Amino acid sequence: MKAKKETKKDKPIKINNIETTLNHLQKREDRNGFPDPISVQCFQCQNYFWVKWVVPQRNYSKKNNWGYWTGKEGDKDKFIDSLCLKKYYFEQREEFLRTVVPKKQTSFRSYLACNII
Ligand SMILES: [Zn+2]
Repeated sequence: MKAKKETKKDKPIKINNIETTLNHLQKREDRNGFPDPISVQCFQCQNYFWVKWVVPQRNYSKKNNWGYWTGKEGDKDKFIDSLCLKKYYFEQREEFLRTVVPKKQTSFRSYLACNII
């Protein structure tokens, strides 16, 4: 008894050519039109890290931008990673309180509490 299966139609074989792979990657990187994360350098420890695009804010995450905390124009191009930000808060509290805008200190504490930093 022969049980030959007809497989001519609905063949589930996919040809993985480079073009479809590239298209697939591009679609994923596109992230629905939202910009890709950017690589920045921490001005404290010199490590590179990623700053993500925040959809509700329609901007890159500000929590790692030093100027966001100090409110100073000159600090706007400086980035600080979360580790150094926390270190600054816990180990140099006095300086933190002097440097960071009071309103932002409140945000900082809530970020800390929510584990955002
Ligand atoms: Zn750092």
